[in-house]
Amino acid sequence: MRDQVRWVSDYLPSDRPVHLLGVGQIDDIIDLVKYGVDTFDCVEPTRLARMGTIYQIGKARYGAQVSSFSVQIEITKSLYKNNFEKVDVDCECYVCQNFTKSYLHHLFKQREILSYTLATFHNLWVMEKLFEGIRKAIGKDLI
Ligand SMILES: [Zn+2]
Repeated sequence: MRDQVRWVSDYLPSDRPVHLLGVGQIDDIIDLVKYGVDTFDCVEPTRLARMGTIYQIGKARYGAQVSSFSVQIEITKSLYKNNFEKVDVDCECYVCQNFTKSYLHHLFKQREILSYTLATFHNLWVMEKLFEGIRKAIGKDLI
């Protein structure tokens, strides 16, 4: 996919935005921005959230050097049952400021619809922070 996007990007008008559907993995996004993709549209962050996969922003800061952004946890695993830390100690979203991993684990185990809402809110927050970092990096000619 990366090779195809890189190849086709040479033929696209540089004065027009480039939108790519169906690509939502964070590592893919970071690479494809380098090839000129401006916008993305994908269910990945919300679908993963509904399944209990929570992005970890602390491991995901987007700086001068792109490292592995896509570190995530499976909140449904039993190791989070009695984990009273914030969902992500480095995240400033509403979920992480107000709820623990244990609480989110409990909500998922009880199949409370609030679990999907909270996990989705957090994952979308992380995606927003990713794109904020990408925009800053572009502004500094780091990409
Ligand atoms: Zn959060």
